[in-house]
Amino acid sequence: MGLNLTQKILKAHLVEGQMIPGEEIGIRIDQTLTQDSTGTMAYLQFQAMGIDRVKTKRSVAYIDHNMLQQGFENADDHKYIQTVAHKHGIYFSRPGNGICHQVHLERFGVPGETLLGSDSHTPTGGGIGMIAIGAGGLDVAVAMGGGTYYITMPKVVNVKLTGSLKPFVTAKDIILEVLRRLTVKGGVGKVLEYTGDGIKNLSVPERATITNMGAELGATTSIFPSDEVTRAFLKAQKREDVWVELKPDEDAEYDEVIEINLSEIEPLTAAPHSPDNVKDVKELEGIKVDQVAIGSCTNSSYMDLMKVAKILKGRTVHPDVSLVIAPGSKQVLTMLAANGALADLIAAGARILESGCGPCIGMGQAPATNAVSLRTFNRNFKGRCGTVSAGVYLVSPETAAVSAITGKLTDPRTFEGNIAVEMPEEFMIDDNMIIPPAEDPSTVEVIQGPNIKPFPINTELKDEVPGKVLIKVEDNITTDHIMPSNAKLLPFRSNIPYLSEYCLTPCNPDFPKRAKENNGGFIVGGENYGQGSSREHAALAPLYLGVKAVLVKSFARIHKANLINSGILTLTFKNPEDYDKIQEFDELVIENAVEQVKSGNTVVVKNKTQNTEYEMSLDVSDRERQMLLLGGKINLIKHQNAAEG
Ligand code: SF4
Repeated sequence: MGLNLTQKILKAHLVEGQMIPGEEIGIRIDQTLTQDSTGTMAYLQFQAMGIDRVKTKRSVAYIDHNMLQQGFENADDHKYIQTVAHKHGIYFSRPGNGICHQVHLERFGVPGETLLGSDSHTPTGGGIGMIAIGAGGLDVAVAMGGGTYYITMPKVVNVKLTGSLKPFVTAKDIILEVLRRLTVKGGVGKVLEYTGDGIKNLSVPERATITNMGAELGATTSIFPSDEVTRAFLKAQKREDVWVELKPDEDAEYDEVIEINLSEIEPLTAAPHSPDNVKDVKELEGIKVDQVAIGSCTNSSYMDLMKVAKILKGRTVHPDVSLVIAPGSKQVLTMLAANGALADLIAAGARILESGCGPCIGMGQAPATNAVSLRTFNRNFKGRCGTVSAGVYLVSPETAAVSAITGKLTDPRTFEGNIAVEMPEEFMIDDNMIIPPAEDPSTVEVIQGPNIKPFPINTELKDEVPGKVLIKVEDNITTDHIMPSNAKLLPFRSNIPYLSEYCLTPCNPDFPKRAKENNGGFIVGGENYGQGSSREHAALAPLYLGVKAVLVKSFARIHKANLINSGILTLTFKNPEDYDKIQEFDELVIENAVEQVKSGNTVVVKNKTQNTEYEMSLDVSDRERQMLLLGGKINLIKHQNAAEG
């Protein structure tokens, strides 16, 4: 039986386990990336492991999230990351050089290699034929040290694209169509592998838009083959030497097949407040728009912004609309500046932001109260933009640009004019904002400013785990709920004691106080708990507050891994109706916890208040079980090092 592309790359990197869906496998990681918001923690953890130089083929530290320097905090973080990268063999992409995923695709991505990134949109790299996976910072730190990365062997879904897109229908609409069909939970435990005749007309940036937003499906990753389109992109980046042809075997088998005829897709939008709340733009046309934001790692490529420039050229942004544009990288911005497109954007009234994440995480440009914001981004969770009452609609750059002129959500097909853009034969390349590692690390001093605090480490699991239910939350709680990420909090990503004061406060402002008063306890949640970003702060803040276990109907993949890495028990209700029977402040206890965790996949939780008990699944591998017993991954690594030494 032939192999699909996902299986081929995983097989070439397999270190442990068997490639049977659902089984844990260990893979070798070729490349890593971090961004500043998760990076400080990842590098503190890397330093704690006592390894001098990274052992990967290539590791890159980006600064793209927390760029505003309203105080010393972000600047401190940038300095720390720059110096720690320089010392330990890591390339450093300076603030202003661009968004990690965009720059990585342009300058570092290699077809057929594995990439682990401390950012949930790392799967963007699948657009160039990588197995690119988002993970918590600690997993990335371990991979930098040459350690194996463990995942559950995913099912592979073949997304077969046929036909071709109609004018003004885009890659963004393709992935919104996939989200409409599969929902934000539909990709859990799966890789989406794109094949079919329809892919040959999709450029690498378009493919990357699709793999980027595969993260919104909860998928492990998404991947396109490496073909002549990939080769042309790499050639234009003067990196043709890293190109290899990669495709599934003729007789490859898949666990599922989805067929999408591209010619049937219409312009789409994800309405507030979930990326899978997908509607036809036509259906919602006419909604008054207050803000349009174009950019993010989803849609900020040269091709995207050239189309926007063509739409805006000679026109003026509607007086009621604030249009902000953040080019994805210095390369993109330089090219727009050189060919005059930037002048067209400015002349139309666009506010140009530096190349970074910016408004995507509410780092500036939060919309007004109750505003409607059209964004080319990938997430529209309530409050993520910085304004809780705002409604964010996710759209293509074409829909965004046309709507910025009309002042209302507008079907881009109403625009009269040609906006076709050819892939350049050569991009403008200058890597002067990427600093290579030091040749002599002994000369580099790592500078750790006062904003950078030690991270919490758990202790061994105790025999009896008692505590109150500190909070009970609904389905689809995101990491933005658990550890809010906004312009006020982002500068404190290296300061868990400070951040923990805001843990779960969007769900209940009293949570941190309750946790402290009760000396920790339990969290109860519904389905898909912890969806969204890879930030391990969403596990470290609860750990700091003494949370011992999280009891839910189901977990999102990365958050579950982060909880386990922190030594917090991840328990799912065997009987989902038990969720309804637990109340906030109920007194729970796990008796014989060590024995229960050691011996199987069932943990009994007693509810002393209701005088009942619940059977919970502890769905973990043996390695994860050991982590839970020892109190997390750092303790496991120390334990292993002690055993070896
Ligand atoms: Fe940055 Fe937004 Fe992309 Fe995250 S999703 S990497 S915040 S642009």
